[in-house]
Amino acid sequence: MTRIAFGDARLYLNRHLEWMAFNRRVLEEARDPGHPRLDGKTFSVEEHLMDLASGYVNGSGRHRQLHLGITCAQGSKRWRHGRQARLQSWKNRIPPMQQYDLVVIGSGPGGQRAAIQAAKAGKRVAVVEKQSAVGGVCINTGTIPSKTMREAVPHLSGFHDQAFYGSNYHVKENITMKDLNFRVTRVIENETAVLQNQLKRNGVELYHGIGSFASEHLIRVENSNGFNELEATYVVIAAGTKPAINAKVPTNSRNIVNSDQVLSIPAIPKTLIVVGGGVIGVEYACMFATLGVRVIIVEKRPRLLEFADSEVVEALSYHMRDRRATMRLNEEVESVEELPDGKVAANLVSKKRIVGDALLYALGRQGNIDRLNLTAAGVEADDRGRIKVDADYRTSQKHIFAVGDVIGFPSLASVSMEQGRLAAARAFGLQAESDPAGYPYGIYTIPEISFIGKTEEQLTQEDVPYEVGVAYYREIARGQITGHTEGRLKLLFHRETLDLLGVDIFGEDAAELLHIGQAVLLLKGKITYFIHTVFNYPTLAECYKAAAFNGLNRLG
Ligand SMILES: Cc1cc2nc3c(=O)[nH]c(=O)nc-3n(C[C@H](O)[C@H](O)[C@H](O)COP(=O)(O)OP(=O)(O)OC[C@H]3O[C@@H](n4cnc5c(N)ncnc54)[C@H](O)[C@@H]3O)c2cc1C
Repeated sequence: MTRIAFGDARLYLNRHLEWMAFNRRVLEEARDPGHPRLDGKTFSVEEHLMDLASGYVNGSGRHRQLHLGITCAQGSKRWRHGRQARLQSWKNRIPPMQQYDLVVIGSGPGGQRAAIQAAKAGKRVAVVEKQSAVGGVCINTGTIPSKTMREAVPHLSGFHDQAFYGSNYHVKENITMKDLNFRVTRVIENETAVLQNQLKRNGVELYHGIGSFASEHLIRVENSNGFNELEATYVVIAAGTKPAINAKVPTNSRNIVNSDQVLSIPAIPKTLIVVGGGVIGVEYACMFATLGVRVIIVEKRPRLLEFADSEVVEALSYHMRDRRATMRLNEEVESVEELPDGKVAANLVSKKRIVGDALLYALGRQGNIDRLNLTAAGVEADDRGRIKVDADYRTSQKHIFAVGDVIGFPSLASVSMEQGRLAAARAFGLQAESDPAGYPYGIYTIPEISFIGKTEEQLTQEDVPYEVGVAYYREIARGQITGHTEGRLKLLFHRETLDLLGVDIFGEDAAELLHIGQAVLLLKGKITYFIHTVFNYPTLAECYKAAAFNGLNRLG
């Protein structure tokens, strides 16, 4: 049994309560006057565990003395025999090492897709997941919960129908966090079941436990029942991220929360401070503002969503202010404190103080690498826990890939899935092409934002002669019928070739609508495609035609 290093066995022993309990019983036996003593020495459970581990690892007790300096009397023959039997029974409980073509660490979007792609290619695949539920941040705490809440909020508040029935119209009076959580829980349950079924159907084996590298090709999976060792030809690390911890922001899952904890706020606050004007902060700010909460966003940059089109961000800011949201831009939070009356105060670097009923800290996320033991694999990560990869998602080790949020930008579920698929394809030499320049962005604010291709700022910097065509939801029959009049679609195209260069949409269903533009853009189509195409009537898709006419008219 030389496979297990002494240090590893000790780690294992220290961690497993079951084993501890077993050895406590052994100790009790040894302390019992009916049993021989260990040379009259005092010893701790810990020492005894190490003693047993050493005996187990080396097959004899001789190394015990070297490693631990414990001198043990050998005791009576009967007791020794019993002890050997116990050790043998423990040895028998160690499962044999399993061999896989691919071991994936993490069952979020990146891990799922890597696993399924490899399984479809006939490979033996295991996924290791430390949580009891599969799906990662995407299904359990991030994308799916926030998008479900994003759906529940306008529905329950009657937000869109207020244009017809007046501002007092609500589907439900006094909306509670329980109402929102009700829908979220249903969707999480269903999504988890779908994913679990997908993995099973594809023959992917699932191990629940903390995955870590024991060596470059060996993954150890530990849980409260023991451990497994998986030997992997290839490994995909899809361990995702967790909210960054700031010692000056004491989150408590109650009134000072991070993005994983939003739905645990017990009651909808009257005033919510949102720290961070990135995607997560702004999405939640919009939802709470739509519920009638007074939202204050603190962002240290001069604008929200700095990577989005500036006109779109202006439009969003206008709508948010209309819902009483306040933007504190160029401001940074120094510290956060809970006040004796249960309120929360954010102290800004500029010495301002903002008081609210709750605070959402939506600044930064940290790679989930602390339990991976990357050193054993010879893989490195930066101080934010991001693993460096090449264009094929390979780490510095050729057989180890990393995908999804753990490699950093853009940290989207959509992109993580694609990276997972590509990593598996590269590992097993499968054909798979993908162009990151063609990846879309969807931001589920109220109204939504979605875009693809170049922005006006980029085209200006690159001296591309472009023109713009715009259509407004309010001028489209579907917009009037549904009450979604606050929206617009912008096409960017080359003045001479008429090639479509970019699409920016701000308005209801923007994330869905974008995909028409995406298809044309990626197929290298021209703006005239929209003119020559008949769209269903009445649909928001008609915006493409209206924007194309508008753009061509500008050419003169
Ligand atoms: C509030 C919020 C809203 C979001 N909204 C969107 C959106 O609308 N659209 C979008 O595209 N993206 C969205 N995202 C981003 C999206 O959730 C992530 O990009 C995506 O989940 C990343 O997938 P992943 O596979 O890299 O990691 P994750 O989904 O984080 O999964 C990683 C998994 O690895 C497991 N793990 C970690 N370490 C170990 C270990 N040592 N052993 C075993 N298992 C381990 C974790 O438990 C976890 O289950 C949102 C994120 C947040 C936080």
